This record gives sequence, structure tokens and C-alpha cells, in this order.
Amino acid sequence: MAKIAINIATGSLQQDEIIVGIDLGTTNSLVAIIHPETKQPTALKEHNSSAIVPSVIYFDEANNIVVGEEAKKYLEISPERTIYSAKRLMGKSYGDVHDKTSLLSYKIIDDGSESLVKVQLGDRFYSPIELSSFILKELKSRAEHILKTPVNKAVITVPAYFNDAQRQATRDAGKLAGLDVLRIINEPTAASLAYGLGLKKIANATPQLIAVYDLGGGTFDISILRIVEGIFEVLSTNGDTFLGGDDFDKVIVQHWASRAGISMEDLSVNKLLAQGLRLKAEAAKKYLSTSDLFEDKLEDLSLILTKTEFEELIFPLVSKTIDCCTNALKDAGLKISDIESVVMVGGSTRVPLVKKTVSDFFDKIVNDQVNPDEVVALGAAIQADVLAGNNKDILLLDITPLSLGIETAGGLMDVLISRNAKIPSRASRQYTTQVDGQASMRISVYQGERDMVKDNRKLAEFNLSNIPGMPAGLPKVEISFLINADGILTVSARELRSGVEQSIEVKPQYGLSDEQVEAMLHDSIANAKEDIAVRALTEARTEGEQLLKSTERFLQKNTAELTKEELIHTASAMQALQLAITMDNKDLIHQKIEALNELSRPYAERIMDEAIAKAMKGKHV
Ligand code: ADP
Ligand code: MG
Repeated sequence: MAKIAINIATGSLQQDEIIVGIDLGTTNSLVAIIHPETKQPTALKEHNSSAIVPSVIYFDEANNIVVGEEAKKYLEISPERTIYSAKRLMGKSYGDVHDKTSLLSYKIIDDGSESLVKVQLGDRFYSPIELSSFILKELKSRAEHILKTPVNKAVITVPAYFNDAQRQATRDAGKLAGLDVLRIINEPTAASLAYGLGLKKIANATPQLIAVYDLGGGTFDISILRIVEGIFEVLSTNGDTFLGGDDFDKVIVQHWASRAGISMEDLSVNKLLAQGLRLKAEAAKKYLSTSDLFEDKLEDLSLILTKTEFEELIFPLVSKTIDCCTNALKDAGLKISDIESVVMVGGSTRVPLVKKTVSDFFDKIVNDQVNPDEVVALGAAIQADVLAGNNKDILLLDITPLSLGIETAGGLMDVLISRNAKIPSRASRQYTTQVDGQASMRISVYQGERDMVKDNRKLAEFNLSNIPGMPAGLPKVEISFLINADGILTVSARELRSGVEQSIEVKPQYGLSDEQVEAMLHDSIANAKEDIAVRALTEARTEGEQLLKSTERFLQKNTAELTKEELIHTASAMQALQLAITMDNKDLIHQKIEALNELSRPYAERIMDEAIAKAMKGKHV
């Protein structure tokens, strides 16, 4: 039952807004919801039709946009006006894709200024974000048509290896399509959710290790996940961004063509024949998933394929995916026997040879009961339902891949939110000024595991200004980090005595690739010893400098109370400390700190006692 609330401001009835789950795929996309009555995740489809919307966009001569099955017809006959696989270009610069452009039939341009790719159609240019937004708009309007209610909120899935820029691009595409993207989640995470993996109650602290094998139309991904207490961690990803069911179709076309004496050159000229053969090949492939012999005709060509022939044709391709699985396990530091469950995703996993090969490799019965075309969207719908607050039993969390912190004295990294912290997450800590009357404080935000900020990655910087004049150490500046459910970090600084405040939203412009994150982590381990030494030295220096400052202040205030001898000795101990600070020897610094403290303690105590005595005298009992 949907909850109904009254909007007090307008007096109108407000129905709980529906949140849909969207699988924005390279080949196919679809939208799913938790069915309001059955409470089951359900892919949305019109009566008697498929839930799948091919991720294909056709622009007719008048630049009208056609999306889906209808657009797919133009793939061969009007290739320069038909865009497919736009997902491959998301968040990419021309440099990232230019060696792959020969594989796409439409025109990709390099518009130097932004250095992000655009696709040219006649005299118009479209960014991959716009192109994806056309697909999302189609999904949104389908959902609205079926549900008879506006759909404005969504959870969208992306491959686990998508970096921040690609995730942000996906989010932007959603926005452009009129969708408030509440969360971007990983496709393998969604697929696991659809199988109920990781959905056990929060208390389940035993880690589950899962392999998600996703063979789609044009891409293959294998992800190794670890799930602990509702937290999904991607241990490794591997795959081939140019290997999928389309390649199965291709080898069938080649097989038929060579049997009929048709050369590949003939096919590249005769587009209608190429299209006809490709469609028949895909039909044959699908048919052979449940039968042993395919027989058909294309004009006077007789098209025959046995299951055995088909399996021989695709065997090398399937073997390639297994090599990727081996590598993914290696990267995760796991053995085959460590994997508890294997999840099958993507239309191409319907091919029996694929299923058998994967099952043999992992030595396990694979999870394949959920429709492999729909499984990712269904998982996204489950996540959407959790976000809508309808499923309180589940705690679904993402984690931060790298630590987040600020720069403190001496260029040290002070971590506020550590690596692998759950998202959303909040942390705050108090800092103070180092100089008397300091009116502003520079706050530099970094990401990384190293002890010195210079070895980490700077995310943002801002100034907290207008701090009222106070002696050093007196202002209380509270720095707060907040990572919201989208992984967007907001850093705010507030001087607690005066209430002066400043904040900044940190949106990484260009995210880190998995390799970069890995390299940063690797670095931090490799340099841990050196880092500890550097940190100790820096801390000693900072402590020494602070002691020098406070001693100086004390002397200024109390010169009259000190003997000449005390003054001279203090001055020389300060000088010795000052000198030690310039050298790379933390023990020497500590020694000089100790010496100065030893020297000043007696007179500091004496002066303190006098001050107290004075204060007592003034008091009347
Ligand atoms: P993506 O995730 O890349 O968008 P999908 O998971 O939707 O792709 O997979 C699409 C691929 O699955 C296509 O190559 C399609 O031909 C293939 N496919 C769909 N149904 C079957 C089937 N019954 N047997 C074999 N392949 C299939
Ligand atoms: Mg997919």
C-alpha cells in the first residue's frame, strides 16, 4: 500500500513518489520497480511486449529521435544516423577512445575545448550524456505510461569499473532526462541483490565472496565482490570491453557467408544482406540456446546451423572470458574454492556452452534462475525500494575507496574519513590557529593513504575567513566532512566561538580510475615505513615550534618576574631547539623540547603560584 501524506503548505495530497531502478546497458536498457502488490521486483513492460529497450538511437533526416527496437532497424541501413553503444563513450575524452572509433560506424569528433568526445550527426553534435539521456527519457516515459503516474526518481546502474567521471556523466544524463538520480550502483552489486545475496540482516558478519559473470551484447565483465554486513566491496574487476553476444552473431554470419561463397567485402557493400544475415544469426543463436538445429532461408540462401557447429564457432570467445575470470581471481588474491556463489548476468549467459563452461571453471552450480536480461534492473529496483524507506531490514551501503582528510601543520594528512568507511558518512574534528590574531584558515582537502598530503590527491581548497582576533590556540575551528549517499563530499568549517562558517562541495571533476586507486593504495603500503618516519619528524617539528611560540609569549608577558639568569638560559635552550628543528632528527628535537621544558618548569610554576595567590588575596570569604 502506498503511503499518502498531506502537503501542509499546499494542502494537496501527496502520494509517496515511486523510485524506479534502471539498467542503462550498452546493448539493452530497461526499467524495473518493486510491484506494489506482490512486493516482487518486476521489469516494466507493456502488455505482450518485451521489457527490453535496445540502447539504440536513430535520428531521422529532420532530426527526430527514435529510441529502441524501432531504431535498431536502421543499424545497417542508415549507420551514420544510428547511434549504438553510447555507453562506451560516457565520461571519455577523445584520447581515451580514438583508437576504438574505427569500431563504431558513426562519427566521433574531437572538440578540443572540453576534450570530451561528441558524436556528429549531420550538422549537430551530441555528447554521450545527451545520447544516454534520450534512452533514459524513453525509459521514463514508458514507465509513466505503464504506471500511470509521473516518474521522477531513479537508481541507475553502472559497471563496477566506471570511474567518477563516468558515474558523474551517468548522473548528468539522468538529470537531463528529468530524473533525480538518487543513487548510482554497480551492476554486479545490483545482480547480487536480485539473487538476495547480501540481503541477510545486518548482523550477518561472515563475509560472502561472490563472482558476477556478465556477458552482454558487446562487453564482458567479471567482478569479484565481498559482502559483509550489507556492504558490497568490489575486490577486483576484469573483462573485455569488446567481447559479447554480438561477436557470437558475427562468427555465425562469417560461417554462413563463407559457406555461401560471399566475401566480407561483398557484405560491407551490400548492407541489406549484411543486416539480414546478422538478424538471422542472432535468431539462430537464441534458438540454439534451447534447440539443437536451426534451419531458415534468406532469399535463396539456405541458413543451417547445428548447436555443435555453433559451440565450435564460439569456443575461442568463451575461453577468453575464462582467462579473464582467472585474472580477476588472481587480482582479488582468491582461489576458485573461495568463491561461494556465482551469479550469471547478461543475455549471452543463456547460451548453454557459456553456462557450462563457467560452472565447470568455478566448480559450482551457478545462479541463473533470474532472467539474465532483467537481473540488473531488478536489483536496482530493490535498491530503490530500500532508498524509499520501504525495506528497513536491509542496510545497503557503499564504501569510500580512499581515505579523505585535510592538510595540517607540516603538510601532514589528517584523515577524517578513512578508506572503506561506509557511505553515507560524517566526521568532524576540532582544530585551532597557530598564530596570534590569525584571521583566516586555509582548508585543503585531500584523498589518499599517504601520510604527507603532497603524496595524496588534492580535491579542494577553501578559506575560512573573518575569524575574530584571538591568541593562537584559542579559536576552535570544527571541520566536518559529510559524504552523502551519492558519494559527494561536503566539507564545512566553523569557528565555534564566533560562529563564522564556510563550506564547499567537493565534486571530483575527473575521477580516479580503478588502476589509479589501486596505485595509490599500493604506494601507501610500499611507503608505509618511510611515511611513519616522516610523520614522526613532522610531528616533532610542529610540537617544537608550538613550544617555542608559547615560551616566547610567556616570556613577553612575564619578563619582570624572571631572573636575568633564567632569561639567558631560556634564550639559549630556545636557540638549541630552533636549530634542532632545522635538522632531520626527531630524537634531537624531542631532546631539546625536553630540555626547554625542564628549564622553564620551575619558573613557570613559581609564576603560576604567585598569580593564584594574588587571585586568592582579592577574594573575600
Ligand atoms: P548489455 O548488458 O550489453 O546491454 P544484454 O545483457 O541485454 O546486454 O545482452 C544482450 C545480448 O544477449 C545480445 O547479444 C543478445 O543477442 C544476447 N541474447 C539475448 N537472448 C539470448 C538467448 N536466448 N541466447 C543467446 N543470446 C541471447
Ligand atoms: Mg548489462
